[in-house]
Amino acid sequence: MSDKPVIGFLGLGHMGLPMAINLHRAGYQLKGFDVVPAAVQAAQDAGIETVGSGAEAAVDVDIVLTMFPSGQHVLDAYAQYLLKSAKPNTLFLECSTIDVAQARQAAELAVAAGHRSADAPVSGGVVGAEAGTLTFMLGAQGEDLEEITAVLEHMGKRIVHCGGYGAGQAAKVCNNMLLGISMIGAAEAFVLGERLGLEHQALYDVISSASGQCWAVTTNCPVPGPVPTSPANRDYQPGFAAALMAKDLGLAASALEHTTTDAQLGSLAAALYRKFSDEGNAGTDFSGIINAIRDGSL
Ligand code: NAD
Repeated sequence: MSDKPVIGFLGLGHMGLPMAINLHRAGYQLKGFDVVPAAVQAAQDAGIETVGSGAEAAVDVDIVLTMFPSGQHVLDAYAQYLLKSAKPNTLFLECSTIDVAQARQAAELAVAAGHRSADAPVSGGVVGAEAGTLTFMLGAQGEDLEEITAVLEHMGKRIVHCGGYGAGQAAKVCNNMLLGISMIGAAEAFVLGERLGLEHQALYDVISSASGQCWAVTTNCPVPGPVPTSPANRDYQPGFAAALMAKDLGLAASALEHTTTDAQLGSLAAALYRKFSDEGNAGTDFSGIINAIRDGSL
């Protein structure tokens, strides 16, 4: 009999399945569930135990981990069956990227139902989920940290405790707002450079060692050439898809509104990525926005 906690794992999609596989490999007993039968099948093929409903995944487990598309999915599942199916004091570990206000609401619902709660959104994408190298941004009570860390360390290499309920989502939203803004800025700089007659490599060599240096340039460079591994070199195959950036910037816009924060660049970045994604580029890497900037279609 393992002394490891039993985990109900709901949401076996692009991120959830490789995360669940890493927990399974580390010896955890999982009760996996997804509303899409093919996702359940893929989990079974990987040797993961699955159950027939979301409610069953919460029965007699120590931790309920959710990896869903949106906050509404989380709140609905919590309210409709997860909270009442779980035994008292179950730890609800919410790893999806959702609205900060919804994350706090989910935590309040869990605590009011006699459970414990933490938000632990991730960065690192599918590649990081597969390799077990995700970064987790954790919003949790101090007394639960050890228990949470013991589980998350099998799926990630860095766990940052950002504060209480919702703090993980808050950190994620701030980081991705900055990333969206900085990618647009990087793309504008390269397009302006082209029109001023600069070679991409020359501009890269300057920016990468000057004050404009940022991840959007040195890791995810929006033009092909200077950073061979950036998506620009493979016709903007993601990487990090524009639809996900548009989603995260929508969450940032919602947080700006909630907090009456006047962040004009964040709001503009949200609008530009929404348009870019909706106009046929949802599956393009977010650095592909340079093409819309270059052709003036944004
Ligand atoms: P996905 O759509 O591939 O997976 C979500 C899964 O949840 C789907 O399989 C869906 O069927 C399932 N689901 C929805 N409602 C359910 C329910 N009630 N019960 C059980 N299963 C349910 O999405 P993903 O790419 O795996 O992303 C998951 C979360 O992680 C999102 O919030 C996303 O924003 C975030 N995220 C994604 C990435 C990425 O690169 N894909 C990176 C960081 C964070």
